[in-house]
Amino acid sequence: MSEQQTFDVVVIGAGPAGYHAAIRAAQLGLKTACIDAALGKDGKPALGGTCLRVGCIPSKALLDSSRQYWNMGHLFDQHGISFKDAKIDVATMVGRKDKIVKQFTGGIEMLFKANKVKAFFGFGTLHNGNVVKVKQHDGSEVELKGTNVILAAGSDSIELPFAKFDGDCIVDNVGALDFTEVPNRLAVIGAGVIGLELGSVWKRLGAEVTILEALPDFLAVADAEVSKTAAREFKKQGLDIRLGAKVSATETKGKGKKKEVLVTYSDAKGEQTLTVDKLLVAVGRRAATKGLLADDTGVKLNERGQIEVDAHCHTGVDGVWAIGDCVRGPMLAHKGFEEGIAVAELIAGLPGHVNFDTIPWVIYTEPEIAWVGKTEQQLKDEGVPYKVGSFPFAAVGRAVAMAEPVGFAKVIAHAESDRVLGLHLVGANVSELVHEGVLTMEFKGSADDLARICHAHPTMSEAIHDAAMAVDKRAIHKAN
Ligand code: FAD
Ligand code: AMP
Repeated sequence: MSEQQTFDVVVIGAGPAGYHAAIRAAQLGLKTACIDAALGKDGKPALGGTCLRVGCIPSKALLDSSRQYWNMGHLFDQHGISFKDAKIDVATMVGRKDKIVKQFTGGIEMLFKANKVKAFFGFGTLHNGNVVKVKQHDGSEVELKGTNVILAAGSDSIELPFAKFDGDCIVDNVGALDFTEVPNRLAVIGAGVIGLELGSVWKRLGAEVTILEALPDFLAVADAEVSKTAAREFKKQGLDIRLGAKVSATETKGKGKKKEVLVTYSDAKGEQTLTVDKLLVAVGRRAATKGLLADDTGVKLNERGQIEVDAHCHTGVDGVWAIGDCVRGPMLAHKGFEEGIAVAELIAGLPGHVNFDTIPWVIYTEPEIAWVGKTEQQLKDEGVPYKVGSFPFAAVGRAVAMAEPVGFAKVIAHAESDRVLGLHLVGANVSELVHEGVLTMEFKGSADDLARICHAHPTMSEAIHDAAMAVDKRAIHKAN
């Protein structure tokens, strides 16, 4: 092994959390290294983590391709556009996605160089005394010592014991982003964000998609009216979402092109079976801590296998921090971004902070779903008095002009102070609108503030403006 190299900061993992931490630390003048073990589809090291390789960005690339295809058959006729023989070339679509992934993973490598972050390509293990041993891809080992070590190891898909990933018929997100043709029949276990997004991709391209969800309620994490609207629209699109359907077994049969999977699940009617060509298991993700920690580090895991941290992402071991998907909190790239920056700033002696109350959530289905803050149910449970204003996109000029009238904006404000407590959206492109709520909440604004802010006409954002006015029953474009 070569001589030990010393750094102010050693980051393990170059996903959204890790690369943000590394770049911010380097910007603040700290000598920084970042280690990542991942390889891209071409077998070469690829920085950027799950998000850039097999998560946020590639899924959005396929969602966008499939949306264009779907709109040809379902929206264009309203505009008077007709065409003959629309076809989808899956290889071209996936190739486009791969190019985007390559562009962005390569971009992180360039950013590391520009910011003088030293990249190590291999698997890192933390040892006692902030020593990180890295097994590089060429088999050599290097030893790094960091005054601070930031663990940003991310997460892996949860595998079900009765539905082991085979990289062919039974897959996780990695496989479902790389199908070589549209499956005739696709089953998805789990109606969470990943299941809904990737199920939508293949449904839009022509697959018969069945989503099996063990819980009785659809998308219980979102506002109930939002979930109801989304469920109605997904049903119209032909997504077959079966609730209260718990999968208990699978069996792969046949060979080659004739291979199929028999899925057994039970619901209120008893035991059921379903035969499909592909099965996507999307039942959640767990912290990727295997091999990350030697026995003597003192870093603790909680009962969910996540690295235990305090409110500032400190593990309790001197100089050791942990951020992103491998710690508590929502498994979202932007949550990791903020933690990465906050920890780098704390290390540099600045007041780093993450406001968990204003982290936006987005589901990139059609319609999109986005929210920030509390739902009505949460406020009821907490006994907080609130008032609500909502406004449908069907009454928004821009939405109707775009032939995208589905959904609504809902503003929830405190009944007494009028302070905005939540913004809930379902509709076209609402991922871009949710930040009005984030900003208002960050600045501790009221529904009246939102109502008095001039919004451009005609824009989709007018739904939020009118919803804010509706909180006090003074919306202009609907009866209050
Ligand atoms: P990761 O991105 O998982 O990165 C961790 C990195 O560390 C990996 O590259 C891994 O190889 C490396 N690593 C781990 N252990 C070691 C080790 N011991 N040594 C060296 N390297 C190591 N979130 C959103 O906000 N928006 C979305 O639209 C979205 N879409 C998603 C779609 C899909 C299909 C999936 C699967 C996820 C999606 N997510 C989305 C979630 C998002 O990808 C994660 O929240 C985010 O990537 C977490 O960032 P992270 O840096 O904590 O970990
Ligand atoms: P998320 O955690 O948001 O990715 O969603 C995963 C979903 O998978 C959850 O809603 C779980 O209820 C669901 N789930 C987990 N195990 C099963 C199972 N065996 N059968 C059906 N659904 C499941």
